[in-house]
Amino acid sequence: MALIKVAINGYGTIGKRVADAVDAQDDMEVVGVSKTGPSFGCELAARKGFPLYCTTDESARIASFSSGGYECRGGLSDLLAIADIVVDCAPGKMGADNLSKYTAAGVKHVFQGGEKHSLTGLSYSSNANHAENLDADGTRVVSCNTTGLSRTLVPLYEHCGSLKVECTMIRRAADPGDSNKGPINAIKPVLKVPSHHGFDLMTVKPEIEINSLAVAVPTTLMHVHTIIADLPEGHGLTTESVIEMWRGTPRVVVMHGERHRLTTTAEVMEMARDIGRKWGDLHEIFVWEDGVKLVDDRLYYFQAIHQESDVIPENIDCIRALMGTEPDWRVSVAKTDRAISDYYDL
Ligand code: NAD
Repeated sequence: MALIKVAINGYGTIGKRVADAVDAQDDMEVVGVSKTGPSFGCELAARKGFPLYCTTDESARIASFSSGGYECRGGLSDLLAIADIVVDCAPGKMGADNLSKYTAAGVKHVFQGGEKHSLTGLSYSSNANHAENLDADGTRVVSCNTTGLSRTLVPLYEHCGSLKVECTMIRRAADPGDSNKGPINAIKPVLKVPSHHGFDLMTVKPEIEINSLAVAVPTTLMHVHTIIADLPEGHGLTTESVIEMWRGTPRVVVMHGERHRLTTTAEVMEMARDIGRKWGDLHEIFVWEDGVKLVDDRLYYFQAIHQESDVIPENIDCIRALMGTEPDWRVSVAKTDRAISDYYDL
């Protein structure tokens, strides 16, 4: 079968990771990545053998790449002309502008969580609604936080048949490579209450009733969620069986904080660097085993999210959904993860 031709528009934090993940699969290939102008990202793309394009069609901008010594193959239109599908990894809220270009070029498109659900009217999370996205023209992979909620709450919902959730998202202020975001010495609550994060889960799993609050804290490593889920009567679960359920859930890793000496996000990310994945990424959602407790019908737990990487494998599954090449989300997830994590299976 012909390889799926994937374009990456915006080769930044998410785009460079998606490009490597696509490159690792045997059913798709990177036909090009785009940058706004000459920068080290162009050097990185060249070293990895990814053809470089400009994010616009302006000839002066395209020509500017040569001043940095980079070969630019053309503008966005040239890139779209050779692609089956584009993964939009531009900074959030640029989607509307880019969507019209993708539609005009007749190319399928995957947006990221910085865009609103209303942009395409469809959102994606591998374990929540892969089937709903099959053969669609365009969608949005939900944010890193929403992906984290989906990973642990969807299996719980599927066991229980209903679920009411309250959660607080303790969000990293910036990614490690950002130098213009904050706060650096404050805790900043999201004063729009409830925050949008909980509602965002309902774009992929509307059956889960969920509300959230959010605060940003001065750290760059991970987000942490504190979650309280009310299970319906007769759920038949215990603390231990919930933990076992998550152990058997793809892209969730359950480890013991005290026993493994992984009691903070700093230690969790050190472990992620130790296992040697690219960029020290942790695609899995990390659940502290000793922080899970079911009291009567109320479940309490914490989870940590590596914001730069949990959505990367989701983008790969999403490409297969839109291209209609793999209808079974579990098959896609297993294939994706084998290709990007085979050297260390947590
Ligand atoms: P980034 O700023 O690291 O990278 C964006 C890239 O897009 C840069 O290379 C930039 O030069 C390029 N770009 C600028 N203007 C462009 C345009 N008009 N068209 C195409 N590309 C353009 O941003 P990021 O963190 O990779 O975020 C990308 C998307 O992923 C956003 O929607 C964001 O909300 C979402 N997201 C980010 C994270 C995270 O933790 N960084 C996690 C999940 C989802």
